[in-house]
Order: sequence, then C-alpha cells, then structure tokens
Amino acid sequence: MEQNQQPIGARLAEVRTQIDAAADNAGLSGDDVSLIAVSKTHPAEKIEQAIAAGQRHFGENRVQEAQQKWPALKEAHPDMVLHLIGGLQSNKVKDAVALFDVIHSVDRPKLARAIARHAEASGRSPRCFIQVNTGEEPQKGGVLPADVEALVTLCRDDLAMPLEGLMCIPPADEAAALHFAFLRTLAQRNGLKGLSMGMSGDYELAVEMGATHVRVGTAIFGPRGTLT
Ligand SMILES: *Cc1c(COP(=O)(O)O)cnc(C)c1O
Repeated sequence: MEQNQQPIGARLAEVRTQIDAAADNAGLSGDDVSLIAVSKTHPAEKIEQAIAAGQRHFGENRVQEAQQKWPALKEAHPDMVLHLIGGLQSNKVKDAVALFDVIHSVDRPKLARAIARHAEASGRSPRCFIQVNTGEEPQKGGVLPADVEALVTLCRDDLAMPLEGLMCIPPADEAAALHFAFLRTLAQRNGLKGLSMGMSGDYELAVEMGATHVRVGTAIFGPRGTLT
C-alpha cells in the first residue's frame, strides 16, 4: 500500500488536510476538530515521529499498554494530550485517571462514580466523553441510547465531572452517517458540544457531520500488527 510507505509526518499532514477540506465543505472550521492519532500497538519510536511532526493528541485503547509507553513520552513531552478510547474496567480506573487526560469510554454509572472518586482523591480530573452504543450491539461497549440522559445527569450534575460530549463506534456493517447523525442529535438534546466520532475509514464524513474529535490510527501509523 503506497500510502503506508510515506513517513508518518506526511501521512499526518494528509489527514489534517482532509479534515480541513471536509470541515470547509460543511461550512465548519477544521480548527474546531482535534485529530487524535491512535497509537495503540505502535512502538514509542513511531509516536516520537508523530510528535516531531507536531502532533499533540494521541489515543490508546488499553491502560496497560499505555502505562508501558506513555510515562516516558509524557516526561519528555509534557504538553501531549493522552486519550483513552477503549473500554475501561473498574479495577483499572485508578491507573487510567493517573495517566490519561481524556477518557472517551464512560458507559455506566459504576464506572462514572469510580472515575469521580479517583479524580477527587488524586486531584487529577480527566475530561470525559460518554460512549454510546448507537447500534445497540450486544458485544460492544457503550450506554444504550435510552440510558444516555440519566448517565449525562449523573456525570455532569451529580458528580460534577468535566463532561465534554458523546462518543460512538458505528456497527461495521451499517452506514456510519446514520450513527453520526444520531450521536449529534443525542448530544444536542443533552446540551453537550463534544462529538468523538470517525476513524480512518470515515473521519471525513464524521467531520462533515460535526465531529469535534476524530480518532485516526491506520491512516497515520499504517496497519497494526506489522512492522512498517
Ligand atoms: C483502534 C481505534 C480507532 C482507530 O481505528 P483506525 O481504523 O485504525 O483509524 C478509533 N477508535 C477506537 C475506539 C479504536 O479502538
């Protein structure tokens, strides 16, 4: 694949250009879209290349993997913003709160309470997104659409968490646009501005539909599980 032979800096610039063009198409500003470079499975050397190219937002999906790579990277580059985009187990909340700046996978009351408790104890309060299972897929994380409002109320009003918005991962076999539109509607209904949606295959569409955060891995770092 020719695109994956390019250096990471060139791929990042290409993705950024596409984001700006998509925003422009929709009468929006690319400046309002945070590009999260999803570095899961990729080694620190590749992350360093992205940082050297000016990238600041990174995403990881597993707490344990992030703990191996990120303390040193954060020490060397204190202005990086680290996003947890994968499911979070209750027994990893303390570590997640200590390491991540933003958590995109809040999806149940117990988890919200645990995050709030550890945030209070540590004085470190990650910004949060509520993950919504817009396709109501049994195997997928995320709160069901019918339960979004109650979870928003708990996080924002009762626990006073810094709640930025909603996140979704559309079903692989359905039109992503329907899910992006649905997520936007849910966010508007709940007075939330942030929309974490769009991956390598559909981030331009997500931006056109109002994404504020896109999570892009393969288009930047190449395929996972191979050396490139
Ligand atoms: C891996 C992952 C991504 C990035 O996927 P790509 O298709 O490689 O861009 C985005 N969001 C989540 C939640 C992920 O786990």
